[in-house]
Amino acid sequence: MGSGCAGLTAALYTARANLKPLVLTGRQPGGLLTTTTIVENYPGFPEGIDGYELMVRMQKQAERFGARVQFGTVESVDLTTQPFALNVDGQALHAETIIIASGASHRHLNLESEHKLETKGVTYCATCDGALPMFRRQPLVVVGGGDSACEEATYLTRFGSLIYLVHRRDKLRASKIMAERTLAHEKIRPVWNSVVTEILNPALGKVTGVRLKNVQTGAESVLDAAGVFVAIGHVPNTQLFKGLINMDEHGYIIPKHGTATSVPGVFVAGDCADKVYRQAVTAAGMGCAAAIDVERFLAARNE
Ligand code: NAP
Repeated sequence: MGSGCAGLTAALYTARANLKPLVLTGRQPGGLLTTTTIVENYPGFPEGIDGYELMVRMQKQAERFGARVQFGTVESVDLTTQPFALNVDGQALHAETIIIASGASHRHLNLESEHKLETKGVTYCATCDGALPMFRRQPLVVVGGGDSACEEATYLTRFGSLIYLVHRRDKLRASKIMAERTLAHEKIRPVWNSVVTEILNPALGKVTGVRLKNVQTGAESVLDAAGVFVAIGHVPNTQLFKGLINMDEHGYIIPKHGTATSVPGVFVAGDCADKVYRQAVTAAGMGCAAAIDVERFLAARNE
């Protein structure tokens, strides 16, 4: 389940083990990496590689060994039967084993105004939306202090007149190289110790700015902006398995003995089980591990 780095690597390994894997893509074929621009830290690509291209290549590699990739989203799952029963967009499917590699989605600020202005100037993906005419030569706001926020802000310098990087602390969480590159950019202005309390202006049906609160002084201010790019991390896509599989309080599936879950025959890989590393290469590595665990599980059961 899932067609990001974890799912496609698991497909590659299970296909080569003749286990006839079916990859269910989920709503975003290729996963979150397809929304990034250049990936500079995936080993083997010294000049970097476009995120979308990397995922297309991973899929081709898995398909070359017989993996089947089907566009579809798992709507429900019955883990009490053997084989497991899945409902994929209304179609009944059965599987001896499942590798959950459903990844994670963008976290929202959870403001009413954010919800109202989604697709009207509020977005979660600069690569997808940054080039839209409404953002060109306009001041823009990026919220967050991690690698994603830095990447979004840097990308948006191509289009916006000025990029405000609003962060709730006075130090970026991003890796040193990303943080330094971002803060050195002449078009990027950090706004420290600040949170967005409201996105303006739902009454006009478009983004005109943000209301900010300084978390140290309590002072409120307004920044004019034509777009708000929210980059404050991710939440795991595991709602489907709530109550069925052990997960922590944030919804991350808890792997044991490698990639096994609390249900025998169900394994997990990638961002839906990893809140620590969350890299393309660690997700791919965990996908490989899950495939090997599946192979051993089936061999032991057949014996
Ligand atoms: P992240 O590292 O978890 O950072 C999330 C940021 O959002 C943090 O700065 C956090 O503030 C802030 N934040 C969280 N909740 C918030 C809220 N409700 N309101 C305001 N701010 C909030 O997430 P990420 O940047 O998406 O990165 C995820 C992982 O992907 C990381 O491991 C990262 O290294 C990796 N990544 C790598 C690259 C790259 O290497 N090219 C690019 C993108 C992502 P605090 O700092 O105060 O917690």
